[in-house]
Amino acid sequence: MADPYVAPPEIVKMPKIELHVHLEGSMSVATVQALTAKHDADPSSVWPGGFPTHFSFDGFPDFAAQFFYGLSLLRSGEDLVTVAEDLARSMASQNVRYAEVTTTAFTHFMARDDRPGMSPHEYRDGLNEGRRRAASHGVDMNWVIDIPRDIETPDSTVTIDYLESGQTPDGLVAIGLGGYEVGFPALPYAPHFQRAQAIGLHSVPHAGETEGAQSVRSAMDDLGAERVGHGVRCLEDPDLVRELVDRGIMLEVCPTSNDLLQVIETLENHPLPQLVDAGLRVCINTDDPGWFDTDLTTELAIATELLGVSFEDHVAMQRDAISASFASADQKVALRNELSSL
Ligand SMILES: [Zn+2]
Repeated sequence: MADPYVAPPEIVKMPKIELHVHLEGSMSVATVQALTAKHDADPSSVWPGGFPTHFSFDGFPDFAAQFFYGLSLLRSGEDLVTVAEDLARSMASQNVRYAEVTTTAFTHFMARDDRPGMSPHEYRDGLNEGRRRAASHGVDMNWVIDIPRDIETPDSTVTIDYLESGQTPDGLVAIGLGGYEVGFPALPYAPHFQRAQAIGLHSVPHAGETEGAQSVRSAMDDLGAERVGHGVRCLEDPDLVRELVDRGIMLEVCPTSNDLLQVIETLENHPLPQLVDAGLRVCINTDDPGWFDTDLTTELAIATELLGVSFEDHVAMQRDAISASFASADQKVALRNELSSL
């Protein structure tokens, strides 16, 4: 997996921010194992041979099956606190100072097996406590709540009603659109995004990961994307690339995720250098660090070793990510000052 990529000390030391990381995707094997024991759950349907030492997948659907087992273990606000604090501990050890963490309310509110879903209050309180704990580790977390396009159909208003309910967690900054793109276009979600933007939320949908350039265009034109999750397949359409550059829309690039979910053929051939050469704004992220057995420092090391990103390039990307983030003005000043003092 990602073990050969050891970050040089200056990368480890560099203060960092991350804009594309899923709370539910941050669960490590150890956390999944601990929550399995806590809830006396049965993992045999996804791992008939017992717990793996590392997660591995054969494409997106196989990943989704294992991911959903992990989700089934998040049954209370306390479980969300556990996962948020684990993520914060990992981030603190890598000098990650600020993160916009995506969480999928819909999947927690759904009834599953014989259990009712989590109540919106419990979900909110869990995220608020998780965010407080993260701050105690020196990591400022803000939240993105996304609609899972392959689960929540456009005629459902569960997520958008929740976002408008006033019962959302502190630090909620944006609405996202996640899940499998093929067969689940963005356009039908345009009314949801309009409602979210009307209450001040930013727009950060995934697009151009499992589907091509047209999906990125729709995210931009129909959902008002301010940043695009992944977006790597925009390169299929030079006109789209020009428009993304002109509008300054940042792509949240996740190399290991693209490799493991077979969006690209090999890490060595990841299109990050082409995206940069095209003048696109990019930042580097983990996506689902627990499931993908990676962390931000490792992703930066991969970009250095395989994709020609220098330390100076990394500092510049971090600066640009700060600009494209929804951190407060004070937080941005503090983050920039810390980078300047390197
Ligand atoms: Zn993602």
